[in-house]
Amino acid sequence: MNGVLFYAPSLLAATSGSTIGPMSSTTPSDEATLRQQICEMGRRMWQRGYVAANDGNISARLGEGRFLCTPTGVSKGFMTSEQLCVVDAEGNQLAGGLARTSEVLLHLAIYRDCPHLSAVAHAHSPNVMAFAITDTPIPTGILPEVEALIGPVPLLPFVMNGTPELAETVVPFFRKRHTTIIMANHGVVAGDRTVEQAYFHIETLESYCQVLLAARPLGELKPLDESTIEKLLDWKRNQGIDDPRLEA
Ligand SMILES: [Zn+2]
Repeated sequence: MNGVLFYAPSLLAATSGSTIGPMSSTTPSDEATLRQQICEMGRRMWQRGYVAANDGNISARLGEGRFLCTPTGVSKGFMTSEQLCVVDAEGNQLAGGLARTSEVLLHLAIYRDCPHLSAVAHAHSPNVMAFAITDTPIPTGILPEVEALIGPVPLLPFVMNGTPELAETVVPFFRKRHTTIIMANHGVVAGDRTVEQAYFHIETLESYCQVLLAARPLGELKPLDESTIEKLLDWKRNQGIDDPRLEA
């Protein structure tokens, strides 16, 4: 099926880049690069309208029990490297003049249970939000790139921010190797090895939701056949890309 071959180069490009292993310690230059990446992904989120005002947050694993995260009360479109915060695994702030985002507690719960993840991003992108506020599930098996890059996206029930129940609801899905999750009446959270990859999941899902909404008045969705899905899953297995369907 040439669809798989066609998509392979872009998928390879998407999975490359600097990988910050969970057990690695971070040198000052790595940390400077990570800070720049977080600011750049924040800028992309804001420019694309995925975060209004001071919404959204991004974090990355620094190693040795330290994490970088975005500050509260700052637009993701205009963050500077110096404004980012360093926190420990419990969320205690170790560095940074501005207070850390309160939602970092969810990020830390994800890192604690998911050593395969080194970056987490969260946004309120409008087309995803349309599904999130109407409790409308995201269909699987429609677009090859969505299958290959993000896989199935669960829509979880609403839980108030900053509560232990939020982490208890969300974390098991990342543990089962989902990459991207929708929290009802709230937004999307994505995790991966790099900050850019976590951001890409949000961008891919937002684009997919936009297409789904455009298709809705035109009629029934036409799913990919089973053999195509199997080929895509085989490709993901070979590339080492997370997907809960590969865990069974
Ligand atoms: Zn939020």
